[in-house]
Amino acid sequence: MTEASLPPLPQIGPVTRRPPVGGPPRTWQTGTVVEIRDETPRMKTFRLSLAEGAVHVPGQHLMVRLTAPDGYTAQRSYSIASAPGEGSEVELMVERLVDGEVSGYLHDELRVGDSLEVRGPFGGWFVWNGRSPALLVGGGSGVVPLMSMLRHHRAAGITQPMRLVVSVRSPEDLPFADEYAEETTLIFTRRTPDGWARPAGRLDAATLEPLLIDGATAYVCGSTGFAEHASQLLVSLGAPVGSVRVERYGPTS
Ligand SMILES: Cc1cc2nc3c(=O)[nH]c(=O)nc-3n(C[C@H](O)[C@H](O)[C@H](O)COP(=O)(O)OP(=O)(O)OC[C@H]3O[C@@H](n4cnc5c(N)ncnc54)[C@H](O)[C@@H]3O)c2cc1C
Repeated sequence: MTEASLPPLPQIGPVTRRPPVGGPPRTWQTGTVVEIRDETPRMKTFRLSLAEGAVHVPGQHLMVRLTAPDGYTAQRSYSIASAPGEGSEVELMVERLVDGEVSGYLHDELRVGDSLEVRGPFGGWFVWNGRSPALLVGGGSGVVPLMSMLRHHRAAGITQPMRLVVSVRSPEDLPFADEYAEETTLIFTRRTPDGWARPAGRLDAATLEPLLIDGATAYVCGSTGFAEHASQLLVSLGAPVGSVRVERYGPTS
């Protein structure tokens, strides 16, 4: 999919009640699981074929709803990991949390051929349409929307500069491990691969500073603690506050 064929982004302007661009597609639809891949011991990619399709902009997320036989429902947001332009198929990548109601079900119960209710895509701020340089900073499963941006950058042959920083605890915790190239800097906070030049430790200013790109929008995604830390580092290194977009996934750091 080319940049020109992505749907227009929502604009901030006078608030009026009108259907979103492209009509009111945000009703629930069925996603059939067509593939499940292990990314790490705690992370899985789920490839869904959507009955009605869903054209997304990298950075957006879907809502997933589970309904129990007694009618109880639980819904959670999951970022889209795939690039736009894969027909009616999208990929989600879910980390299994201890005692996680929805992530536990997706990991333990969901099989190829099963159906899920999904709605979206949602998100009009944490999105990259390919028209500006981008510095992507993700912690753990927070790399998911950034992977959609990176995949789109490659698939559409976009020439805007892009750099990606991925922070994980150990090599075993790294999702999408085969997909990183020279644009990516990997940070291991607890344990590094053998012979890794940078000692284990959290993302710091010395690592981030050389990666800054003039005029870039920064996209920071991860746990609340990671997102606060990384966005504060960016601002302390001179990134304009308005150029840093943050998405927080959960309550823990
Ligand atoms: C816009 C958006 C996009 C998201 N995209 C993704 C994604 O692509 N992949 C992904 O794996 N998750 C993503 N999340 C997080 C996801 O929506 C759920 O919060 C997560 O899967 C936990 O749900 P659960 O039902 O399994 O856990 P719950 O049953 O809700 O919680 C179980 C325990 O984990 C704690 N907890 C809840 N959420 C988190 C969290 N995110 N991190 C750490 N602890 C938590 C709770 O406090 C509780 O103690 C996204 C969140 C948002 C807001």
